[in-house]
Amino acid sequence: MSNLIEKGTKIIGVGRNYVDNNPAPMPKEPVLFLKPTSSYLANGGTIEIPASMEKVGVWYEAELAVVIGKKARDVSEADALDYVAGYAFGLDMTAKELQATIKASGLPWLLAKGLDTFTPISEMIPKSQVPDPHDLELWLKVDGELKQKGSTRDMIFKIPYLISHISSFMTLLEGDVILTGTPEGIGAVKAGQKITAGITGLVDVNFNAELRGIPVST
Ligand code: MG
Repeated sequence: MSNLIEKGTKIIGVGRNYVDNNPAPMPKEPVLFLKPTSSYLANGGTIEIPASMEKVGVWYEAELAVVIGKKARDVSEADALDYVAGYAFGLDMTAKELQATIKASGLPWLLAKGLDTFTPISEMIPKSQVPDPHDLELWLKVDGELKQKGSTRDMIFKIPYLISHISSFMTLLEGDVILTGTPEGIGAVKAGQKITAGITGLVDVNFNAELRGIPVST
């Protein structure tokens, strides 16, 4: 994490946002959801898997996180990157079985995405070190085995559009984070496993996964 990210008031997740082989039509507008800032987990921390979710497990999604640097409301795409302070590597952890249940009922994704430790995040990389945020390689390994490797080039809704679009609905404040979606290769992480991941040449992170003692009722 960083002081700026800790200052933020919200995390906005973007649903399906990478070119993939899924035959379902691509969304015309981004699917957005909120995660609470209480779900942050700093590098080196332990991802907690509620005991009730052990079977299907908690799934990892490796994502580029955009960190907002100043108040943004009704921002144009042309100006959008002026509102970015930097970038980070983030994991959008998802309680997969719970998400399937609530998706089927048409309910919000909050509970599947908002648990404590469900947004592991790196330190912020200042914007000056990232000449092109759409030319970054994201990677993720579980117990040393490569699971995700993708380029931010393949994002469907690009960062200026996302900032402009979101800021037309709600004000983005200093330290707020947009999780921009994940490339292919998502899967479950089990208790006792270790995730290593990062943005090639910029940052890497590692997290353990452990069971959380108190079962969460679903
Ligand atoms: Mg995601």
